[in-house]
Amino acid sequence: MNSRGREPWVVVGLDNGGTSNSATLLDSRGRFLVNELFESPSRVREGPEVAIGALVESLDRVLALTDRPRGSVRAVGLGTPGPASAEGVISARGATNFSEAAWHRFDFRGALERRLGVPVIYSNDGNAAALYAHDSYFGREATVRSSISAIVGTGLGGGVIEAGRVVRGAAGMAGELGHVHIPMEGLLAEGQPIPQCNCGFAGDVESVASLTGIQNNLLPYWLTRFPDHELTTAESIVEAAKLVRGYGVAGDPLATEIFRQQAMALGRLFTIASNFLDPDGYFVGGGVVEASSSFREWFLAEIRENTSLREEQADVVSFALIPDLDMAGARGAALAALQWLESS
Ligand SMILES: [Zn+2]
Repeated sequence: MNSRGREPWVVVGLDNGGTSNSATLLDSRGRFLVNELFESPSRVREGPEVAIGALVESLDRVLALTDRPRGSVRAVGLGTPGPASAEGVISARGATNFSEAAWHRFDFRGALERRLGVPVIYSNDGNAAALYAHDSYFGREATVRSSISAIVGTGLGGGVIEAGRVVRGAAGMAGELGHVHIPMEGLLAEGQPIPQCNCGFAGDVESVASLTGIQNNLLPYWLTRFPDHELTTAESIVEAAKLVRGYGVAGDPLATEIFRQQAMALGRLFTIASNFLDPDGYFVGGGVVEASSSFREWFLAEIRENTSLREEQADVVSFALIPDLDMAGARGAALAALQWLESS
């Protein structure tokens, strides 16, 4: 007979996205109990109350999948896109996924914790994916390694890991890699305007290495250099930008120029990181790594080529693509919650 106190416990990881929640389970020994992507609607556009309900449902469903009772949950890791504070309070100005006024300054972590009655540990989604990338790459050596992860999506997210832990910073804003300024000299082509970022900076990493960067900066310029390109007939620049990856995989010259500039931007970011942190691992994720294997290997090689390392560093560091990207957020959020339990 099992007494309740001796039942094995689990940690749930929940990744809250613009359209879906992804959920996973971790046991007390750090093993993932769900091998596949487990998604359900996030309903964030219906406001905080409905979205919290959707997260609870997603938690209950992943528990049911593995036949674990709610009482076996010792902690929950919650990941969301930013900007939010280190404690999971959504920015006063809202955020892309949380535009309704009810979300502004909403204590997302606290509200879920009150609803569930177990500790909820917050991570921003970039940091969570970085933690998962680090842990899965270094395994048993994770606690004595450091890494930087850059994830190319609508924006440029990621995180910094030192000694196996996320570097959060004083205000929870460490690892905002997208808004690091990088040199533009030698990156831009002749007559190409300085790329502008939505954050107000000019010439930061996200202004080049993101879908938004393609749409606002790179594609408008490169279409002037390839005036007969098929993409000039796309419905809008927004639609055209989404098609660039497919062209890149097919070896299209315009798209290749765009991805070469993105790889150069990431290499320049990693060069800055090599002098700041000197990490063991440089990881890259995002839609681009879901492309064909020859394309992503080319992209990673271009990034490495554009990262200036000292000889001693080049001998010991690794470059790799982040695996299981669609599950990385939930898995990383669960790992962060397990770390919290172990240290509390
Ligand atoms: Zn920026």
